[in-house]
Amino acid sequence: MAVMTEIRAAGAVLEIDLAAIGANWRLLSSHHGGAPVAAVVKADAYGTGAAHVAPYLYGLGCRHFFTATLDEALALQPLLPEALLAPLNGLSPGSEPVYAGSGIVPVLCSLHEIALWRDFARSRGHTMGAILHIDTGINRRGLSAADVRALAESPGLLDGIALRFTMTHLASAEEADNPENAAQLARYSAAVDVLPPAPTSIANSSGLFLGADFHSGLARPGAALYGLNPTPGQPNPLRPAVTLRARVLQVREVAPGEAAGYNATWRAQRPSRIAVVGVGYADGYPRALSNRGHASAEGVSVPLVGRVSMDLTMFDITDAPQTGQGDWLGLIGPGRSLDDVASEAGTIGYEILTRLGRRYARVWHG
Ligand SMILES: *Cc1c(COP(=O)(O)O)cnc(C)c1O
Repeated sequence: MAVMTEIRAAGAVLEIDLAAIGANWRLLSSHHGGAPVAAVVKADAYGTGAAHVAPYLYGLGCRHFFTATLDEALALQPLLPEALLAPLNGLSPGSEPVYAGSGIVPVLCSLHEIALWRDFARSRGHTMGAILHIDTGINRRGLSAADVRALAESPGLLDGIALRFTMTHLASAEEADNPENAAQLARYSAAVDVLPPAPTSIANSSGLFLGADFHSGLARPGAALYGLNPTPGQPNPLRPAVTLRARVLQVREVAPGEAAGYNATWRAQRPSRIAVVGVGYADGYPRALSNRGHASAEGVSVPLVGRVSMDLTMFDITDAPQTGQGDWLGLIGPGRSLDDVASEAGTIGYEILTRLGRRYARVWHG
């Protein structure tokens, strides 16, 4: 089998547990008071492989999917025949016929985008579905309060547009105590009150854990599906879905005082065994982990030593004496979550996940 050959030769293997992603979607659904829960599968399902993840969740009953771009949605559309599929980045001029031809639903984020879609619907002579994105404080994509007022005063601006949903996006949902969450909710309900009736959509992953006030007609989690912790500082209620292991290419015996890696930023304090693995920053393994990261070997946490280089990284495996050339070190997985790796690298799990490199042999289970 080609997959097995690839793994036998691979320097690093990324395993994606579809059953865990499915269990996470079900858990998130149980947190949403019976209302539907979408899957956000932008950026190739946060690096886990949208062409595998989206049909798997579809098989479990998920019927709403969000990508970032129209291209991402077009790639998935044939795999999700009855689903609502919508690109969050909004409608770009000229793409209207592509939406109409594919059934992908545009997320309209400005009065200009609304006008484009209304004019297009008029030219086709029938109403066309859309989602309206209302900005309530993140000041990124979406209609401003003034735009919403303009729509309320001139309802004809929405002629020919059938609102499938309105939506808003929380800026600080992972900070449960941040008063901005409730403020965004209040601004959203003020906007919804003056717009034509439509189901609402509020919570991302963390928003699902802010309580029933943040439930809506459609939740939009991404990160939590893939096992990232939506409640930082508290135990992660989700199942980890990603494992990354790297093969030891070589073990070196390094004497006290000797250095390892570019610019000699690490020196052995004791006779040390240094394992070299074929993963580097070109694989999305952050250079910021230099002298800070860890891997697991024989159930022990072993420190990353020296600089992460483009294609190679070194770990001090002196405390894992059975580990040798050809064995595997766990870079992400049991006892070493994506969130752990992210905090050692000074970033968030989202960034670690979405940057996982193209050179890994990928295996999907489930
Ligand atoms: C990415 C995104 C989501 C999903 O956010 P997570 O924090 O990954 O759950 C939901 N809504 C919008 C508008 C997004 O951009």
